[in-house]
This record gives sequence, structure tokens and C-alpha cells, in this order.
Amino acid sequence: CGIVGYVGTDKSLEVLLGGLKRLEYRGYDSAGIAVIGPDGALGTAKKAGKLSVLTEDLQEHPIPNGQTGIGHTRWATHGGPTDVNAHPHLGDDGRLAVIHNGIIENFATLKDELLSDGFTFASETDTEVAAVLLGREYRRTGDLPEAFQSVVSRLEGAFTLLAMHQDQPHVVVGARRNSPLVIGLGDGENFLGSDVAAFVEHTRRAMAIGQDQIVTITPDSVTVTDFAGAPVEVEPFEVAWDA
Ligand code: GLU
Repeated sequence: CGIVGYVGTDKSLEVLLGGLKRLEYRGYDSAGIAVIGPDGALGTAKKAGKLSVLTEDLQEHPIPNGQTGIGHTRWATHGGPTDVNAHPHLGDDGRLAVIHNGIIENFATLKDELLSDGFTFASETDTEVAAVLLGREYRRTGDLPEAFQSVVSRLEGAFTLLAMHQDQPHVVVGARRNSPLVIGLGDGENFLGSDVAAFVEHTRRAMAIGQDQIVTITPDSVTVTDFAGAPVEVEPFEVAWDA
């Protein structure tokens, strides 16, 4: 339902939790984050319930802050509002994390393919299918943007999808089809959001991603392509916002 992504300096936790707070107005039943910590390992926390349940959980079981992270508030469509079904969802080796707004309509076909390949699933969500598929494609390609492009090209339905992998710790990739995604441009840091509320307290320079486009952000670069990998020019705009 609400999506925020961040690459930059050592403040992912603040950016993600602040962004999710600003996206609360959209409504949600669960919340979660994933951060790549200073030791290069992926830390995650996710809980059914309000954002305050997640922040209390983080106080009891802290995860290291880091320079790269993604955060999600969920409005359940596939699988009930439980801790396990909350996003992020991990690849089968636990090295990558995915968050998703919308519905992957062909998830059952993809899940059957992965089950017959011997993969298992922790949740009942359509989203986890994209995470497991991405893990498989990452091992094949060794490159997150390339693996991500191959996965989103196979998905049908409505999705804003964000992913990161601990082996490429300063990269967040995102894609959209029939669901919004906006880039926030910072100085030595960049942001992604399901709407500008996700990052407007940090930057007002933004770029809207078009239908069926993929974005790759690092702390000092933003690249947009179509689902076939062809570069796309996007004009920045200034967010007019009375916060
Ligand atoms: N279909 C996904 C799920 O049920 C995402 C729902 C959403 O947009 O929050 O987990």
C-alpha cells in the first residue's frame, strides 16, 4: 500500500520509518522494513498492526542502521494480515528483500513453476513469488538490475515493486505497472516512494516513473529504463507541498 526506498548515508531507519509515518493516511494492516547494515547483512523487521507495533518491536529487537533500505505498509490482498505475510519478503537464500504494492495476477502459475523447481514459501502472498524468482534470477545473472528486469517482465497485473540485495549494498531497484512510483532526488542520497509524501521532508526534487518502467538508484545516480532495458529520459520537477 505504501512504499519507501532509500540509498545514501547512515540513516535508513529514520528515513524509512518517517516515510511510512507520512504514508499512514492511505490505510494499512501491517508494516515492515529491511536495511543493509554496516556489516553488509540484511536486517528485517515486520509486524501486523500499526506502525507503532513495528517500532516497539524494533526497540526490543534492534536491527543495525545502514545506508540502504526499503519500507512497506501493507493492505493485504493475498494472505491474511499476519507477521509472516507482512513485507518485506526475502529470496530463498535470505540475501534479498522485496516489497510490493498491488496484485501479481499470474502468481499461481509462477509459484507452481518454482515449487516444481524445489523452492518453498514462508507466506501466502503473491509478493513472495517475485522475491523467490528474483533470487533465482540473481544467481543466474549476478546483477540485481538485470535479474530484476527479467522478473518484472514476467509479472502480470498491478505492481509497484522495490528490491535490494546484500551483495550490491548501495543499490535499490524499482518498477511499476498500473501502480505509482516516484523518485526523490537528493545530494549523495536518493529516494523512492509510492507518492512524494514518502520523502518530501528530505527533498522536493522529484521524477515520476512512467508506466512499465524500471528505476535503479544508488547514492549518486538514477537510471530509468523500460522493461526491455532501453534507457528512458525523465524530467525532474519540483514538489509543491504544504506540509
Ligand atoms: N498483494 C500484496 C499482498 O497481499 C500487496 C498488497 C499491498 O498493496 O499492500 O501482500
